[in-house]
Amino acid sequence: MLTEITPMIAFASENAPVALHWFRNDLRLRDNPALTEAARFGAVVPVWIDDTTIPPNEAPGAAYRWWTRRSLVALDDALKGNLRFFRGDPSVLLPDLVRRYGVRRVTWTEAHEPCVRARDTLLATSLTELGVEVVRRNGSLLWNPETIAKPDGTPYRVFTPFFQKGCLAAPSPRTPLPAPDLTLIPRAASEPGVEPAPEAEWERKLGTQWTIGEAAAHTRLDAFLANGLAGYASGRDFPARPHTSRLSPYLAHGEISPNTLWYAVAGRASARDVAKFRTELAWREFAHYLLVHFPQMVTEPFRPEFTAFPWEEDEALCRRWQRGETGIPIVDAAMRALWRTGYLHNRLRMVVASFLTKNLLLHWRVGEAWFRDTLVDYTLASNVASWQWVAGCGADAAPYFRIFNPVLQAEKFDPDGSFIATYLPELAKLPTPARFAPWTASEATREAAGLFLGKNYPQPIVSLVASRARALAAYARIKAST
Ligand code: FAD
Repeated sequence: MLTEITPMIAFASENAPVALHWFRNDLRLRDNPALTEAARFGAVVPVWIDDTTIPPNEAPGAAYRWWTRRSLVALDDALKGNLRFFRGDPSVLLPDLVRRYGVRRVTWTEAHEPCVRARDTLLATSLTELGVEVVRRNGSLLWNPETIAKPDGTPYRVFTPFFQKGCLAAPSPRTPLPAPDLTLIPRAASEPGVEPAPEAEWERKLGTQWTIGEAAAHTRLDAFLANGLAGYASGRDFPARPHTSRLSPYLAHGEISPNTLWYAVAGRASARDVAKFRTELAWREFAHYLLVHFPQMVTEPFRPEFTAFPWEEDEALCRRWQRGETGIPIVDAAMRALWRTGYLHNRLRMVVASFLTKNLLLHWRVGEAWFRDTLVDYTLASNVASWQWVAGCGADAAPYFRIFNPVLQAEKFDPDGSFIATYLPELAKLPTPARFAPWTASEATREAAGLFLGKNYPQPIVSLVASRARALAAYARIKAST
């Protein structure tokens, strides 16, 4: 598979009709339907706006933004240095740019965050009033959420019928488009371009973990097709195995499209592996679908009875969770992996989210905010829907009373303890079963491994048994009151 992006790029003559493509969640040239519409129209002005108007609970956090900055450099390289970089309110900037460049068509890829959607609708109207044709395309989802509904016209609330009866019964996803040949309006030296920004130490460290940009996304996909997809269905739950694609940050920034993935896996592994991978892509679809149809879920529980849930507030406990200092090894290893890499395996996201919301009884929004700030693949829809799902208050959620036991989860999904040893070197010398629950090992075993509980690794901050019982009691109370 080609890992290079090879569109033909030329520069516009005067009097060519001008289109402006506003890059947002689509930092790629290949399979970019909105960009293709711009290219078809005439000469293109490619623009990025660092949007300062997104409210904090919808805005991506630091790790995501770090990735974006590097991705823009890669995109700008592919556009031969012609990407314009602005910061501010798109509703003010875009009409200005339309006048400045004599733009007659503006194109962008649809976004799904509630505030952005509302703003986009108003912006499209005001641009149309300026005599500009606005072309918005779905470039980040396999199925447009507006086109999938139950037979009675209402939105699905449960994943399996959404996917089986809604998506799979609808027309197949669009097959991927090639990168369009682009005629560009050259960027004048006086116009703001993309500059690599100086990076803090944590950003440089993250940079050692990832290669960023559209070409890197395709390289990652090729590696996954060669070494990960076969065995995906049975291997995807084991964090130390190579069966998950780690393509989520590339999808989150639109460096690769879900359509490209959907079709790339066809025939590349057993039908079971391919179907399982596509089902995971469909979970991403479901999260966006829910956000479009139930935008209140950004802050409110999907299941209203959870409004009365007695979440606790405890900043000290929350910090211990964030720093990976809970004394529960799989939770701590996961939280340190998240901090170090900006990424966390799905199984571990579920384990740490369950621990926060059930064993610590802290609000899912606290965890959602931390993930928002630390994940390079942060996606409002997937993050909110998944946090609510684990907490038990979401659509099609895991029943609240199903509380993960993190020790059993570690035994099952990190059976040789290698994930724990990678991120908690202080436990690496313990024999495997003791790595899952060091407080159960004899003092002699711990000392022989150089482990001193309460000194170089914490005692558990909660009793797993007692905190489970407390969570179940809290749930029983809201159940009784509704
Ligand atoms: P793969 O197993 O290779 O799956 C391929 C793609 O399918 C992923 O890249 C992703 O786009 C999609 N996908 C897989 N599982 C899920 C899922 N459960 N829900 C939605 N989409 C899925 N994913 C994000 O992209 N951004 C988030 O902010 C995010 N927050 C999460 C928070 C919690 C509490 C939990 C439990 C899950 C969250 N997820 C989120 C979903 C999932 O964990 C990641 O998408 C997945 O781990 C990414 O790794 P991968 O690319 O190797 O996945």
